[in-house]
Amino acid sequence: MGNQKLKTDYLVVGSGAMGMAFVDVLLSETDANIIIVDMHHKPGGHWNNAYPFVTLHQPSNFYGVSSTELSKGCKDEVGLNKGLGELASGAEVSAYFDNVMNHKFLNSGRVSYYPMCEYLGDNKFTSMTSGETFEVNVDKRTVDATYLKTSVPSTHTPNFLIANDVNFIPLNNLPTIQAPHSQYVVIGGGKTGIDACIWLLDNQVDPDKIMWIMPRDAWLLDRRNTQSTEEFFFDSIEAQAAQMEAMANASDIDNLFERLESAGVLIRIDKNVKPEMYHGATISELELAQLRRIKNVVRKGRVTHLSKNNIAFEKGEISTPDNTLFVDCSASAIREFKPLPVFDGNVITLQMIRIIQPVFSAALIAHIEAEYQNDEQKNALSQIVPAPNNANDWLTVTAANMRNQYIWSQDKSLLKWLYFNRLDGFSKMVTDISKEDSAKQAVLQRLRGNIPEGMGNLTRLISTLTPTVKAAKKE
Ligand SMILES: Cc1cc2nc3c(=O)[nH]c(=O)nc-3n(C[C@H](O)[C@H](O)[C@H](O)COP(=O)(O)OP(=O)(O)OC[C@H]3O[C@@H](n4cnc5c(N)ncnc54)[C@H](O)[C@@H]3O)c2cc1C
Repeated sequence: MGNQKLKTDYLVVGSGAMGMAFVDVLLSETDANIIIVDMHHKPGGHWNNAYPFVTLHQPSNFYGVSSTELSKGCKDEVGLNKGLGELASGAEVSAYFDNVMNHKFLNSGRVSYYPMCEYLGDNKFTSMTSGETFEVNVDKRTVDATYLKTSVPSTHTPNFLIANDVNFIPLNNLPTIQAPHSQYVVIGGGKTGIDACIWLLDNQVDPDKIMWIMPRDAWLLDRRNTQSTEEFFFDSIEAQAAQMEAMANASDIDNLFERLESAGVLIRIDKNVKPEMYHGATISELELAQLRRIKNVVRKGRVTHLSKNNIAFEKGEISTPDNTLFVDCSASAIREFKPLPVFDGNVITLQMIRIIQPVFSAALIAHIEAEYQNDEQKNALSQIVPAPNNANDWLTVTAANMRNQYIWSQDKSLLKWLYFNRLDGFSKMVTDISKEDSAKQAVLQRLRGNIPEGMGNLTRLISTLTPTVKAAKKE
């Protein structure tokens, strides 16, 4: 087995959504050469391991890479996302990244792609098929596009014990069911748990045969308010104005969530249960109505042990009938991560710099790398917006997001870049409002007029957060 020496400007480790969005902008805005390394055989990262019925949960029109449209420019006409911007399926997302790699990146002659290769550190990697090793002389930077460590059910290890005779599958295997089960137990209250429940209901499973194990209830976002096309202005921007008013006027944290809920900004599945989780998942009204048909929702904390006819929890146990199918939805897609400086000497570590927007963040980091002079200036424009986990993280990530938005708004050329970047979503929608359109201008005034009080009061509310809440456990 040989040892090859390679030379490049940028070595990008990871061809998931973030690595792809980063390379795309670097390719457009510099004349750099780039080597991309990934352990998968195809680009798209975790989308290679996704369940067959996965879709995006944000509209396709602002996901993917900046240069290449993912959406077909239409709304869904059928299904539970009816009337809203289309959500690409996992297969569409994978095909899209494949197409971007083959027809844009590799076609440019400036990108070399090494799939099925493991990065070993120190600019070295090895082929997982041939064993050959590569040592790269990197002129500019090594880019870590693996730091978010997205976890999905088919590849993660559950954090509870499972007896050998338990019928336990990741939700990926649901479409392989050949005969009915007496009960379906869905483990996990996040986005994948929601998807598994909806898939079962869509496939004629009686809601009373579903047991939904919900260690923590989640605050969810109304997907109607995440639409970035003009026809949804009064949903998306009005929701942002209502959010700012809630932040400005809330007397305490409970009151803030009450206001956000009554304004339609946040939604919960059961209005009688206080959510402890916030991961930024979106939901449509039709999906919500479906989920509320499931009455057997178990709130006994996390599962500790599954045996054939019994589930042990942190707070109690429940027996289950023979022929129960347990469906694992307990992987937490985006983990909490320790923020690192994005730009640090020879290394760029891709992280989120806008609230739960990984691809936008990676694209903007590439633009900042291309356009700005030194790491101090670059890091000032790239403050981390952590991934939220607990409900109260809503406050801290919203504050971090607003701080970045304010910093970017002071830079005219950056504002122009945001306006023209398709991953940005909303800058264009807001900037394009005609001065004569008094109804839309009024909404904008409500939004902008409340920013000082909103930010001030949010900072005050954050100072009242207790350390116990900040350190609460992950699901
Ligand atoms: C079901 C689901 C739906 C989602 N929907 C949305 C959505 O609608 N909108 C949105 O913005 N986000 C969404 N996300 C989140 C978002 O897609 C992911 O967070 C984002 O794709 C993360 O991409 P990534 O590139 O950071 O990570 P990954 O996809 O995990 O990619 C990292 C890559 O690095 C490679 N790698 C790791 N270590 C090494 C190594 N040592 N050597 C070589 N290669 C290595 C891996 O093989 C992998 O390909 C969703 C996530 C999930 C799970």
